Amino acid sequence: MQKLVDFIQNIYNTKEFIPLHEPRFIGNEKKYLNDCIDSTFVSSVGKYVDMFEEQFAEKVGSKYAIATVNGTAALHIALLLSDVTADDEVITQPLTFVATCNAIEYIGAKSIFVDVDLDTMGLSPQSLKEFLEKNCEVIDKKCINKTTKKIIKACVPMHTFGHSCKIQEIKDICDAWHIALVEDSAESLGTTYKGKHTGTFGKLGAFSFNGNKIITSGGGGVIVTDDENLAKKAKYLTTTAKIPHKWEYVHDEIGYNYRMPNLNASLLVAQLEQLDGFIKSKRDLASKYTEFFKDDENIDFVKEPKDSKSNYWLQAVIVKDVAKRDNVLEYTNKHGIMTRPIWKLMNELDMFKDCQCECLKNAKYLEQRVINISSSVIV
Ligand SMILES: *Cc1c(COP(=O)(O)O)cnc(C)c1O
Repeated sequence: MQKLVDFIQNIYNTKEFIPLHEPRFIGNEKKYLNDCIDSTFVSSVGKYVDMFEEQFAEKVGSKYAIATVNGTAALHIALLLSDVTADDEVITQPLTFVATCNAIEYIGAKSIFVDVDLDTMGLSPQSLKEFLEKNCEVIDKKCINKTTKKIIKACVPMHTFGHSCKIQEIKDICDAWHIALVEDSAESLGTTYKGKHTGTFGKLGAFSFNGNKIITSGGGGVIVTDDENLAKKAKYLTTTAKIPHKWEYVHDEIGYNYRMPNLNASLLVAQLEQLDGFIKSKRDLASKYTEFFKDDENIDFVKEPKDSKSNYWLQAVIVKDVAKRDNVLEYTNKHGIMTRPIWKLMNELDMFKDCQCECLKNAKYLEQRVINISSSVIV
């Protein structure tokens, strides 16, 4: 294990503490931030928000992008715009960050957990199909869960650590079953599946710019869509549901204060300029890890799955012998290299214990074995 510690210290050229993932501000961040402050437009209106939305949409190849205050808010609005209500159900994966399920619960809807694939760590199209065929029927273009009699309105797959799940296959199944596809792409900015950017397969996609993500605005998120009406509605709902008018304040529904402040957007415009370089650095790092772990009998480095060109946001390994996982965590953390296990499964958290689940064998396997290792962009 000392070999791994030496290897990582050598990569980052330091013997000091190495965090899991540090942001890098090595571009125009200070310049744009200063400009934003000088302009006094620091809040939810300003040229950086507009600039960011335009540049982001172009980057991922979607028609519209609506900046939000964080990724959870982006998911919340994306689900509302998919017509999810408190009476509905939403299929997602148990192996995800808690925000995915929180957004579903904010509406009062219930999560249903379906297994992930071992190679992508994201929702398995095979498991999804099996769940639907076993438990559901389509009546009047609605997918009815025969057990609960509720409508399954949406499906939220997640692209774990920046590796794309089999999103086209998932989309085809959702289309056949009249389920709206909302992608949790919080971790996958820059990742494509069969050449198309993740987040753009579904009706709506959500990204996050939290401090630990591949680019950050401190806190922030964005909704993407190709549908002009949904884009307008997203902007309206995230800005207190105000009817556009030269001076009048008229709101015709309960809206949200979910807009990204211009200050954050100024940081983000600078970060977006550096995205390609960040991804290159992470992909180079992944090659180094691949080489390092190639003859390791107990530890597999997680490589990009077939058809995914991954951003390698967080680097991950699988410790095959469950009993040895904690030794790896213990040793690395003790020697100043921050590592951490993947999330606990959502269906095992108190809040989601009563949610319907379908055989989560792969999710369980990964939960017990996956560890994230040093992933910061090398400067
Ligand atoms: C980070 C993250 C989010 C939430 O983003 P915030 O900006 O922190 O609200 C949602 N889903 C996943 C999978 C994430 O990793």
